[in-house]
Amino acid sequence: MSVLFIGDLHLSEDHPYITDCFFHFLQTHAQKAEALYILGDLFEVWVGDDVAEPFAIEVAEKLKAISRYTKIYFINGNRDFLLSHRYARQAGMRILDEVHTLDLYGKPTVILHGDSLCTLDEDYQKFRKFRNKAWVKWLYASLPGGIRRAIARKIRNKSKSSNQYKTTQIMDVEPSAVKQLMQQTKTVQMIHGHTHRPGYNQVDETKERIVVGDWYEQGSMLEVSHDGATLHTLPF
Ligand code: MN
Repeated sequence: MSVLFIGDLHLSEDHPYITDCFFHFLQTHAQKAEALYILGDLFEVWVGDDVAEPFAIEVAEKLKAISRYTKIYFINGNRDFLLSHRYARQAGMRILDEVHTLDLYGKPTVILHGDSLCTLDEDYQKFRKFRNKAWVKWLYASLPGGIRRAIARKIRNKSKSSNQYKTTQIMDVEPSAVKQLMQQTKTVQMIHGHTHRPGYNQVDETKERIVVGDWYEQGSMLEVSHDGATLHTLPF
């Protein structure tokens, strides 16, 4: 048996081949796994469970179908931070706190999306703090779906153009933020996504940070079992 971790699928109606690869992954790898952890940015954009698009409902149905065999957990990403319990219930998955710890085959492990560790990106962290405020979320949720989508599009375009001028260092996790969180949570292993830089990174002699890959060019998953952790790619 194994536990699977995925993230940064950025599913949208515009890229059906990614969704197809995900459905195939669910019916093969995920169905045989003990648990599936989705580490955020499952969707390219999420403006509210109440206005989920038909393709997202289909995603929920497929997830729900395998939830009979496999426990499914979800951590919100920066793109789908508004995904909430109504959709999670439809999808048969449980939403975890943004920083979650678990014992993974004897290794104390912390899992998260990863954007909170990019502390050098001050503009983004400021925005993140703002959009996490309860009143901001409430106000946004009270707007009609079309307006919510237009606002989301504007924010996305703005971040796309400002990211062009950010260095790769600013866009990556900050080493001291990683160490601090691992110390706080008393963990020896960290698993996250967001940076789209899949790989194994040694934090110090005893600690490792594993990054799951995005689904832009191929599917990607991390498989953890008694034998260790292995990153796999899944062809489209
Ligand atoms: Mn992200």
